[in-house]
Amino acid sequence: MISSEQYKERMAKLKPNVYQGGKLVDRFDPSIVGGIYVLCTTYDFANDPEFEGVGVATSHITGEKINRFNHIHQSVEDLLNKQKMTRLYCQEVGGCIQRCMGIDALNALSVASYDADQNHGTSYYKNFIEFMKKVQSEDLSLVCAQTDVKGNRVWRPAKQQDPDLYLRVVEKRADGIIVNGAKAHNSCSAYADEIVVLPTRNMASDETDWAVAFSIPADTQGVTLINGAFNPPRRRRLEAPYCKQGESHSMTIFDHVFVPWERVFLCGETEEAGKAALLFALYHRHSYTGCKAAVSELYTGATALAAEYNGIEKAQHVRHKLADMIQVVDLIYASGIAAAMNSVKAGSGTYIPDSNYCNAGRMLAGEAIYGEYEALAAIAGGLSATLPHEEDFYNEKTRPYLEKYIMRTPDVSAENQHRAFRLFQDMMSSAWGAHKLIDALHGGGSPVIEKVAIYRDHNIEHSKNIVKKLAGIEYEGSTKGIFREKRSWY
Ligand SMILES: Cc1cc2nc3c(=O)[nH]c(=O)nc-3n(C[C@H](O)[C@H](O)[C@H](O)COP(=O)(O)OP(=O)(O)OC[C@H]3O[C@@H](n4cnc5c(N)ncnc54)[C@H](O)[C@@H]3O)c2cc1C
Repeated sequence: MISSEQYKERMAKLKPNVYQGGKLVDRFDPSIVGGIYVLCTTYDFANDPEFEGVGVATSHITGEKINRFNHIHQSVEDLLNKQKMTRLYCQEVGGCIQRCMGIDALNALSVASYDADQNHGTSYYKNFIEFMKKVQSEDLSLVCAQTDVKGNRVWRPAKQQDPDLYLRVVEKRADGIIVNGAKAHNSCSAYADEIVVLPTRNMASDETDWAVAFSIPADTQGVTLINGAFNPPRRRRLEAPYCKQGESHSMTIFDHVFVPWERVFLCGETEEAGKAALLFALYHRHSYTGCKAAVSELYTGATALAAEYNGIEKAQHVRHKLADMIQVVDLIYASGIAAAMNSVKAGSGTYIPDSNYCNAGRMLAGEAIYGEYEALAAIAGGLSATLPHEEDFYNEKTRPYLEKYIMRTPDVSAENQHRAFRLFQDMMSSAWGAHKLIDALHGGGSPVIEKVAIYRDHNIEHSKNIVKKLAGIEYEGSTKGIFREKRSWY
């Protein structure tokens, strides 16, 4: 495991390929350092005993102690620890911990590359294991570039007017492949060591050019990161840990990029490409049951604090709102635990969480965010939108007025009232707050995609049989068991 300082030294050595705001920018641009801070915590927390060791795992490949973000789940306990680590870390920084894309991509690839070798006699799993040794020993940070830009959403990759709208292989050489295309919304690519590329969807048998998975350094020749950086409003006087964070998402351009064969994990195996795509989404939704539980708890805590500072914490409607919010936090986290407890072991030995529980938790998390904003806005009142500028609290003329008139419950100081409402404003009434709303809804897959998976994986005939039996209608099969068999869909 490396330190956050070593991680930053490595970032500083990457060749410049990040474009932002119309120009080539440094990876340590002030708009990007909030994201670097978050990734640094993933290195620091792993060594922090306060986190009860959840951030450290034992490599099943080398037996060495490694950062859990680079671990392949070997047990139910590993899945539980990953979920717990994600929740604890997100709670600590006040938002997305960002390194989960890497662990989720690695776990998906461990299964898909192994299965491809079993089915087609290829040697992708060997490539993958060699790659993993490097990832683990150097403690690399990874971005997952899965989401293709996709063009017309209802047309398949081969049917698009421009075939590059889904990233594809344009040439195979003796020493590697050439890929062309673009991936969208790639979180933390501006400050990650490697870009792990996965297919975005199931592939038809004639879509072999698009069935490709690989990993390359983030500054590889031909890779351009067109980055968008997002940060909580920067404070001038009133420092707050919440405002240290930030995140970046890039459109990642692959302009005839060379990938050596040893870094290729799938190339033309359409069935396993679909498996890799679905498995990344599944692992990522399991990660959401950790991170989104933390985010929901943040909004629950903020709502409770707003109620206390407003002196209304005993009001019945406040308690009802808080109970609803706590229920969401607990259900999201519980879905991840249930998914881990009902996991299945793949041929590679990797544990795969249960699909229905993951998707149910992720869908609840994505849609509940709007209710969480609504609850905090309702209980905090209009001040979280109209709070005067920070400088006005430090201006000789206006300060006494603001300190007098911001007062609510008398045992909370004016400064703490200011701190609390400044945070609520950052969380809801800022460009950052709006960004986080869409992040919570679409990151890990839009809710409709989770509905598709939930319907796909639930044995609806079993549900109908229960009703037929109770109605006295003939049915085929059994109605015994709890609503569905434990399912190994992969
Ligand atoms: C903050 C953030 C961070 C992200 N980070 C990453 C990342 O690190 N790596 C990564 O790979 N991805 C990342 N994503 C991408 C995320 O997974 C996608 O946003 C999500 O899968 C939805 O895809 P889309 O944005 O292209 O939306 P679209 O596909 O454009 O979806 C828009 C709507 O169209 C619907 N739709 C789409 N296709 C069809 C169809 N064929 N038929 C009918 N309806 C359809 C969708 O269900 C949705 O309701 C991130 C997204 C966000 C918002």
